[in-house]
Amino acid sequence: MKREVWQGLLDRCLDFIEGWRRRWPAFEPDPTVDVSVDRLAAALDALFQRLSDTYPFFHPLYAGQMLKPPHPVAILAYFTALHMNPNNHALDGGPATSYLEKEAVAELAALLGWTTHLGHLTGGGTIANLEALWVARETHPDRWIAFSEHAHYTHRRACELLRVPYVVVDIDERGRMDLNHLEALLRRHPIGTVVATVGTTGLGAIDPVHEILALQTRYGFRIHADAAYGGFFSLLAQRTPPEVEPAPFQALPLCDSVVIDPHKHGLQPYGCGCVLFRDPTVGRFYKHDSPYTYFTSPELHLGEISLECSRPGAAAAALWATLQCFPLRPYDGLGSILARTRMAALEAYRRFQASDAFRPVVEPELDIVTFFMADEFRASRISAATERIFETAMRDDTAPVYLSKLRLDAAWLKRRFPDLVLDQPEVTVLRSALMKPEHATAVPQIWDRLQAVAEQ
Ligand SMILES: *Cc1c(COP(=O)(O)O)cnc(C)c1O
Repeated sequence: MKREVWQGLLDRCLDFIEGWRRRWPAFEPDPTVDVSVDRLAAALDALFQRLSDTYPFFHPLYAGQMLKPPHPVAILAYFTALHMNPNNHALDGGPATSYLEKEAVAELAALLGWTTHLGHLTGGGTIANLEALWVARETHPDRWIAFSEHAHYTHRRACELLRVPYVVVDIDERGRMDLNHLEALLRRHPIGTVVATVGTTGLGAIDPVHEILALQTRYGFRIHADAAYGGFFSLLAQRTPPEVEPAPFQALPLCDSVVIDPHKHGLQPYGCGCVLFRDPTVGRFYKHDSPYTYFTSPELHLGEISLECSRPGAAAAALWATLQCFPLRPYDGLGSILARTRMAALEAYRRFQASDAFRPVVEPELDIVTFFMADEFRASRISAATERIFETAMRDDTAPVYLSKLRLDAAWLKRRFPDLVLDQPEVTVLRSALMKPEHATAVPQIWDRLQAVAEQ
């Protein structure tokens, strides 16, 4: 966004804040909070210096981790609401922003095809998943939790924290939960909840939620879908023809709980995850009796259905305002953005497939692409080549390319590439999260740089 546009909109926000404040009698700020402009400027200058070390997450040549800038509308909405600093724990703390949160969360539930829900925003995917697994434990106090080897590492941690026994399900050759192994585990253990990952953080693989659902009728367990990264791709599953495999997304309405992170693919700054429960009566588990909140209304306060107490109302304002500009629709708004990131991943994959220099690990299901050097066969040499490419690609004065690395089980990779020599148990490959719509046009440039680095 151009600087003049930023300035115009910032003025608009400041005008609003000033007008809002003027509704109450003026007062003098206490001298203890007074700081000279020079000192403020110096503090900011010192900060700028420290911040300048940050990788260029905003840039299309940054194709490493799942990082992208929040949209300006989210920043402006957050900035504005921050002046009020509402707390969405209670309607007493965030009267306006609690309603914004309820509306935004209802839109996320509708995106997933849910007709009923109970849910709220969270600090992120980790706390949202923890909450879902906590409800799972309260529902089935004596039963276990199952998740795949490639599920987010925090599921294991959450189970440890909750002291729930867990089992880890193998992955198939595409990185998805292996249902034969899941069924064997279901026969052996009292599993009460299966976690299906819709878009694994490493490979971007989608567990077959629809097939897990088929096992549910036989073994009776809850399904929690961790769609922190992949959930927004429901929009592309709704296109005709669908631009991602639709079946797992079509099964989401039948899951018991879902986590979706607006700070992953919803253009939000960090601090915005979301957990949804299909059965609103799980609200009973949250019952607590706080002596100092919930006075202004008999209506539902979000703190009554949330593990966390204080939560930023500004995050709800940012998400709500973003959804005004980028509605959750398959052919415009957020759908158009995701279609571009998906296009980027497919184009990168096509190039890796046709290339002599690289081999793609799996066909991308969403917008993460993983690959390794084609002229190496030993796990140790592939890993060394990965380190070299990773380092060299980002060391360039004019057009550095930033990638990330992913450690995989070497025996698993050998199932896909039988010529692999297992001289060590793990192998490190390159990973690229093409999460920005600009990646759709940046792929050729990223590609040229990778080719050049590979030839060195
Ligand atoms: C990112 C991610 C998480 C963790 O979410 P945070 O917001 O980083 O706490 C959990 N699960 C999946 C699949 C993720 O991609």
